[in-house]
Amino acid sequence: MEKKLGFGTMRLPLTDPDDASSIDIAAFSRMVDIFLERGFTYFDTAYTYHDGHCEAAVRKALVERYPRGAYSLTDKLPTMLIENEEQQESIFERQLENCGVEYFDRYLVHCATAAFCERAERLRSFDFVRRKKEEGKVRSVGFSFHDSPELLERLLDDYPFMDFVQLQISYMDWEDTPIRARECYEIARRHGKPVVVMCPLKGGMLADVPESVGRLFRAARPSDDPMLWALRFAASLDGVITVLSGMSSVEQMDENTARMRNFKPMDAEDYAVVGRAVELIRRSVPVQCTSCGYCVPVCPEHIPIFDLLHLYNSQTDAEIYGSGDLRPEYAVRSDGYGKASDCIGCRTCENSCPQHLAISEWMGRVADVFEHNRTAVNA
Ligand code: SF4
Ligand code: SF4
Repeated sequence: MEKKLGFGTMRLPLTDPDDASSIDIAAFSRMVDIFLERGFTYFDTAYTYHDGHCEAAVRKALVERYPRGAYSLTDKLPTMLIENEEQQESIFERQLENCGVEYFDRYLVHCATAAFCERAERLRSFDFVRRKKEEGKVRSVGFSFHDSPELLERLLDDYPFMDFVQLQISYMDWEDTPIRARECYEIARRHGKPVVVMCPLKGGMLADVPESVGRLFRAARPSDDPMLWALRFAASLDGVITVLSGMSSVEQMDENTARMRNFKPMDAEDYAVVGRAVELIRRSVPVQCTSCGYCVPVCPEHIPIFDLLHLYNSQTDAEIYGSGDLRPEYAVRSDGYGKASDCIGCRTCENSCPQHLAISEWMGRVADVFEHNRTAVNA
């Protein structure tokens, strides 16, 4: 059975927790060793990770310690940083140099949102990566994508030479209205494209499920934890090359590779369990915020958006299970910041939200619960 776990290097161990560039090379090297020893080979890095220091760390921990054929390395064109077409060339060459390789096994155009896609098209990034493939500096080209199925369909029609796509897929996103993971996946497969899965744990949310879901999972498969359920869901899909997981310690590497070492695809009973888990999570975690934090710096009212959304989720859960009242926490969380009722509905935050959350509407509900004393379950 093919090993479908990819090592995402965006959150590597640090020697100084306050300095993203201080990657702990010794710990990272040990993680690389465990990953390869257990038969996994897919590494994913990016120019921007760890304040621009990740690629060099990959060179030290992986490239300088293992033969080139022992692993597969994926990198990405940092669309968000590129101003003009010529810059693509110099950044690409720097990426090869940073990583210490002569070619990338896979190279992605970073197309997280419609705005990024527009930029990539203006810069003719798709043609650029195709050229790199023709020059032998990239083996396989693709793009990472977080937007609508309609845009995905159009991109695959316009750039049929793309070899694969990287999609956000988790069991919570599968039928979710803003993410529409199933539709995106089906479009990719209809175009004959293999898929790399990102965010299988929905930003960590599915590693820490409500207790009711934990019980459900344990009853179905006593030895499988919530993380394995989420990874197996994504890895079981036909045409999936790998499932990326950002790992940040030797322990996490040990646990994750142990989970996926003897991966078995889901069966009908597993899918039924996951269906029930989705219902339970939707009920007690109404806002599917992953705490990425992109929304907070752009809010003109300085509202601690994700903190308040998480408080709202906790209040909902507490009301359902009768485990207390989180209202007193609200004053603490919003102290020195804007309150939910300060939201002016500008929706700037929504344009930055990869989960496409209707944040301005949620702010109204947060205010109802925490400022007007309504119940969260009926808010
Ligand atoms: S919609 Fe509300 S929460 Fe979002 S940026 Fe505007 S003021 Fe802030
Ligand atoms: S951008 Fe969206 S997902 Fe990220 S923290 Fe803000 S609300 Fe949550």
